[in-house]
Amino acid sequence: DIDEFKMVNDGLGYHIGDTMLTEIAQRLRRALYLPGDVVARFDGDEFAIFFDRLPDLPAAFNAAQRIRQLFEDPFMIENGQEIFCNVSIGLELITSEVPIETVMRNADLALYRAKHTGRGGIEIFDQTLYANFSTRLHNETALRLALQRQEFRLFAQPIIDFEHSHCTGFEILIRWAHPDGRLRSPGQFLDIAEETGLIIPLGWWMLEVAAEQLARWQADPMMQHMTLAINLSPRQLLHSQLLPTLKSIFERYQFPRQQLHLEITEGALLNTERAEPILNALRNFGLHLHIDDFGTGYSSLTYLHRFPLNTIKIDRSFIQAALEDQRSLAIVRTIINLAQTMQLATIAEGIETAEHIQVLRELGCQAGQGYFFSPPVPLEQAADFSLS
Ligand code: C2E
Ligand code: CA
Ligand code: CA
Ligand code: CA
Repeated sequence: DIDEFKMVNDGLGYHIGDTMLTEIAQRLRRALYLPGDVVARFDGDEFAIFFDRLPDLPAAFNAAQRIRQLFEDPFMIENGQEIFCNVSIGLELITSEVPIETVMRNADLALYRAKHTGRGGIEIFDQTLYANFSTRLHNETALRLALQRQEFRLFAQPIIDFEHSHCTGFEILIRWAHPDGRLRSPGQFLDIAEETGLIIPLGWWMLEVAAEQLARWQADPMMQHMTLAINLSPRQLLHSQLLPTLKSIFERYQFPRQQLHLEITEGALLNTERAEPILNALRNFGLHLHIDDFGTGYSSLTYLHRFPLNTIKIDRSFIQAALEDQRSLAIVRTIINLAQTMQLATIAEGIETAEHIQVLRELGCQAGQGYFFSPPVPLEQAADFSLS
């Protein structure tokens, strides 16, 4: 796989064109030894090379190294610019007749790992790769079925306003009621859902259930001002249907828009060019935006300045360390001051003791959530909590 075309002059990515393809093919042909050796374009910028008779593993590695060397010289493109290529190689050795599909799949799995570990960019297929692959496939199928069979449940964790000591709303957290009878936490399935794209239908379903709940609460004087905060996955945030879906939801359910809060992690904002117009649109639409797990991610300050956020959620790792560790306490204090300067609200996560509340109140934090108040409870029981 040929990757990461970098223009030397401006660092921009370069689209692989026909002229370049021809030159890549010519270079690859130089790597062949025997008349039976073949090079073929596999897919986009992926190529398959078949060596008819390599004696052993070291020889295969040599061949791979030679291919890499062929790409050490830059490519010249229009207006005299140079492009350097990165080559990742997946190897599979076959000693007997194996179906071509299996060979290609195995080499592809090795390639996938070569691209992701970056250890010299050459990987050899082995059975553990296949085992991982089939586990993933199995997990993915299980998740698809779970969605079909409606095995996902929404839980809600109360958010407490420190000043008046009352519940202002809830964060929605997903659980999977597995057929084996045990609840799975998001850490056990969200990565796969995100990678496979299943997070998208799952995410739309959650928005629907949350909106339905908010609309139903409008008739209940005790609940009609409650907010619900939904975690948006990075993929969901960038999805073209996000705003249309929200619009459709507000056409069908009646409740004030500012009662729906969206939680977005810093990681989802990495692609600032794409994220910025989306956040602006969501905010203009009237929703509240929380930046989640604040401080654990990347260049947080730029985000605060650039994006139209309402609330910072202070990650529970800082809260939990703040009582023992002066540095964590300093980070919490800094985040709260920063939020005040930028006129953002703060919600502290992971409040487990009365001492946490006391410290946070002194620092000027307005609200929090955590096991001290309540663990996440099934959404249907949220109304019972707010009464107690
Ligand atoms: P998060 O958004 O930071 O959610 C808070 C997590 O902290 C939840 O874990 C919650 O159960 C846990 N927690 C709450 N209070 C306490 C406490 O006092 N002490 C400790 N130690 N933990 C506490 P959970 O439910 O396992 O969720 C993990 C992460 O999964 C969430 O982190 C969120 O990033 C993601 N997630 C959960 N539900 C959804 C969802 O519906 N959609 C998406 N996209 N992500 C979700
Ligand atoms: Ca590529
Ligand atoms: Ca969250
Ligand atoms: Ca969080």
